[in-house]
Amino acid sequence: MPQIYRLENYNPELKDVSLIVGDGLCSNIYVFGKEEATIVDTGVGNRANPVFPQLAELGVMPENIKQIILTHAHHDHAMGAFLILEHANPKVYVHEKDTKYIASSFGDALVMVNEGDIVETPIGAFTVYWTPGHTTGSMCLYNPDHKMLISGDTVFPDGYYGRYDGESGSLEAIIESLRKMTELDVEIMLPGHGSPVFQDANSHIKLSYNQASRPR
Ligand SMILES: [Zn+2]
Repeated sequence: MPQIYRLENYNPELKDVSLIVGDGLCSNIYVFGKEEATIVDTGVGNRANPVFPQLAELGVMPENIKQIILTHAHHDHAMGAFLILEHANPKVYVHEKDTKYIASSFGDALVMVNEGDIVETPIGAFTVYWTPGHTTGSMCLYNPDHKMLISGDTVFPDGYYGRYDGESGSLEAIIESLRKMTELDVEIMLPGHGSPVFQDANSHIKLSYNQASRPR
């Protein structure tokens, strides 16, 4: 069964942020707010990961889901959005460069974003950073007030980083994206897989950059 974590228990800056950890090949699903919720990545949307029971447990009903942010268009992050759209009417934010895979399926719900765009959420405004490498249209989103980075499959904790051998992946690009993320002041990191980082995420990002850019 998917597990639910209220992240406020780990860092008070994460008030109104919950994490649903899916079963099997499934992205992390972050839930910001309750009455007008933003969902960050939606999981794989299969029978083992139906999303709605967990959202209901958090008090988020379909009519409360106002926005979905997809860090990139891989199916383990994005397919859950189709499930949600069957019962709710959120806007779906995707980086322009990743929309070619899914744009037509989202129709009017789609909001294409680019570097520097601001996405307002219940816990604050996040700035879009284009971080290609895992996919061409991967993005990270940063909130300076909480020093919080939504890092998708670009940066993982403990020196790991996203695979770059997929269809639109690039090692060169992910190294540059990781370097770009080292320039931010990040305390909290919410990655697409694995455990969130609750303090000193800067050191994790630097380690990932060093690992990716080491001579091979
Ligand atoms: Zn991915």
